Amino acid sequence: MRRFFIEKITFPVCKLTGNENKHLSEVLRAKAGDRIILCNGDGRDYIYEIVDFSRSETSLKFIESEDNKSEPRLDLTVYFALLKGDKSELVVQKLTELGVKHIVPFISKYCVSRPDKTDRLVRSAVEACKQCGRAVVPTISDIKQVGSIVKEFDQFDKVVFAYEKISKSQSTLSELLSGKESKVALVIGPEGGFSDEEYEMIISSGVKPVSLGNRILRAETASIAAAAVIFSMEGDW
Ligand code: SAH
Repeated sequence: MRRFFIEKITFPVCKLTGNENKHLSEVLRAKAGDRIILCNGDGRDYIYEIVDFSRSETSLKFIESEDNKSEPRLDLTVYFALLKGDKSELVVQKLTELGVKHIVPFISKYCVSRPDKTDRLVRSAVEACKQCGRAVVPTISDIKQVGSIVKEFDQFDKVVFAYEKISKSQSTLSELLSGKESKVALVIGPEGGFSDEEYEMIISSGVKPVSLGNRILRAETASIAAAAVIFSMEGDW
């Protein structure tokens, strides 16, 4: 069943309007009697049947609701430095599929891309939720500066600060994580890496640098691969 995200769900009749209506009626060519899932971000799936269409709205009849089971136990926040081209959208798409709950795009010294809006990232997250079956869209925060993200680190059980200049023999993920954390942060730098000053600032907040292995990963690979490994280590795969 196709999934649609709307702000307010009404019972027993709900109307789908705007782009979501256009998508359902014109792109997907749905018919009366077809069923769809509506989500409002509360973690439940609301199943509705299409009653009829007009140009501007689709009328839906409520059938039943159920808990959506796709949310992981682990509350993972990913801080990622904004990337060139459409790579930031790719990162958000993949992190959403993997189950990340909060995504914080940030700007650091060697970031090439410095957008000021996050609407494309939000759209990528919603599209990914529709495809992968999540009922809760991860939060995408406003774009922050690297100096301000360090102030948030004390709210996590553990912070995985991925730093490519640290060797595997010095610090690994399996030494940092016990598998019993409930709130973890992952921090990934831009294509150009972190500057020495940024490294010192992050370290002075009390977090330790961690290696992601013997090869230097592209920033987008690092975010996606590390998030997958963290979920796996926390028993949430
Ligand atoms: N420009 C740097 C690489 C940056 S990779 C260089 O060529 O040396 C982008 C980000 O991915 C890094 O800031 C880090 O957060 C993460 N990363 C990539 N490979 C890593 C590794 N082997 N260990 C730890 N972090 C890594």
